[in-house]
Amino acid sequence: MKQLLLSLIFFGSVGAMAQTTFEEDSTMIRNIYSEVLAHGECHENLRVLCKDIGARLSGSAEADQAIAWGKALLENYGFQNVHLQEVEVPHWVRGEGEYGYFESAGERHPTNICALGGSVGCSGVITAEVVEVKTFEELEALGRERIEGKIVLFNRPMDPLLINTGAAYGGAYNQRGQGASEASRYGAAAVLVRSLTHALDTFPHTGGMHYDDDVERIPAAAISTVHASELSEALKRDPKLRYTLYLGCQRFEDKMQANVIGELPGSVYPEEYIVVGGHLDSWDIGEGAHDDGAGIVQSIEVLRALQALDVPLKRTLRVVLYINEENGNNGGETYARVARETGMNHYAAIESDAGGFTPRGFRLQGNDEQYEVMKTWQPLFEPYNVHLFKRGFSGVDIGPLKNDTTALFGLVPDGQRYFDYHHSNRDTFENVNKRELELGAATIASLVYLVDRRGW
Ligand SMILES: [Zn+2]
Repeated sequence: MKQLLLSLIFFGSVGAMAQTTFEEDSTMIRNIYSEVLAHGECHENLRVLCKDIGARLSGSAEADQAIAWGKALLENYGFQNVHLQEVEVPHWVRGEGEYGYFESAGERHPTNICALGGSVGCSGVITAEVVEVKTFEELEALGRERIEGKIVLFNRPMDPLLINTGAAYGGAYNQRGQGASEASRYGAAAVLVRSLTHALDTFPHTGGMHYDDDVERIPAAAISTVHASELSEALKRDPKLRYTLYLGCQRFEDKMQANVIGELPGSVYPEEYIVVGGHLDSWDIGEGAHDDGAGIVQSIEVLRALQALDVPLKRTLRVVLYINEENGNNGGETYARVARETGMNHYAAIESDAGGFTPRGFRLQGNDEQYEVMKTWQPLFEPYNVHLFKRGFSGVDIGPLKNDTTALFGLVPDGQRYFDYHHSNRDTFENVNKRELELGAATIASLVYLVDRRGW
């Protein structure tokens, strides 16, 4: 009944463009999937982004190249109103020569580490004893007496029993984000953080961290899971072992970079916007393929496919390639601020930033009506094994657009392997599957079609 009522209201409001039937929508969605699977260009676009440009941390020359690449690509597709939106971003660089090893029983054991993004560098080589903890409560219990002058190893693994790997990440995250500040309160010399991955391997995974204003800034590095476990075992045999650390990272003056924007104009409500996007920046190791090259090329593919199929859009569809998600979210914040200041009406925004894996559905940050309407679309996605339509977190870049009326959707791909690659040298083009990437793009394009066509 509710659906019928909504349909009637909707029918009355769109004039010439009548509500489509289930069969018509089904056919259109089939056409969208066929277009992307037969003629999709997102995989080739991802190859260029990963192989010709590669890692592209905010502030870097590679991020400038990625911005130029994105703008040229949107222009080549013939999208409208292609432009850059200036964004101030931090400029942090890893620098040269980072390393870490421990010495025990007269033997040197190298460990694979990498500075966490935003860490201060080491003013000289640090050699110190190591104290291992799994929680901030353990730090407090040990107190300054047992921590001062030492390197703190945060070694709490991601919980392998959680099916939602994002939740497992969230459960271990505070060690990386906040560990240096907490350890610094007790006089630690530096921190090592067990890499946030389920994989037991030798790749360190970087990621953002920050310092509280009231603490001394101490160096912070990620250590591979294999080496965190080795160090932990060695500490049991030899609690006085010494660890040697050097990080060459530094922070420079903030820089101006940009979000990249392009559009397919709407024919009925051109002043209402639907955004699809991901983030163009990545961490500085690997190639930023899953995080978030995949979301970038999928978002572009959405416009390409809808344009190729000549799908009539009532609202203006925007692709936004956000800058600086990884270490600031200044791209997302700037976009939303400008939208507010200029009185833009965002009907919906959809983000892909959870890896280029097989799509499972969407999470919605929105009101009850939007949620009820979204659930009615589930049968249309059944042929594609896309079945998850839930409330939940949408995406970091589009988050600042949150208000009472804009519906925010996050694409939910299968997340079991995401953290194997996330923020590490394993996040490369070769680890993204072409079909899975394309299915994600087709799924977003189908959602855009339904949001625009059926709405709420
Ligand atoms: Zn990301």
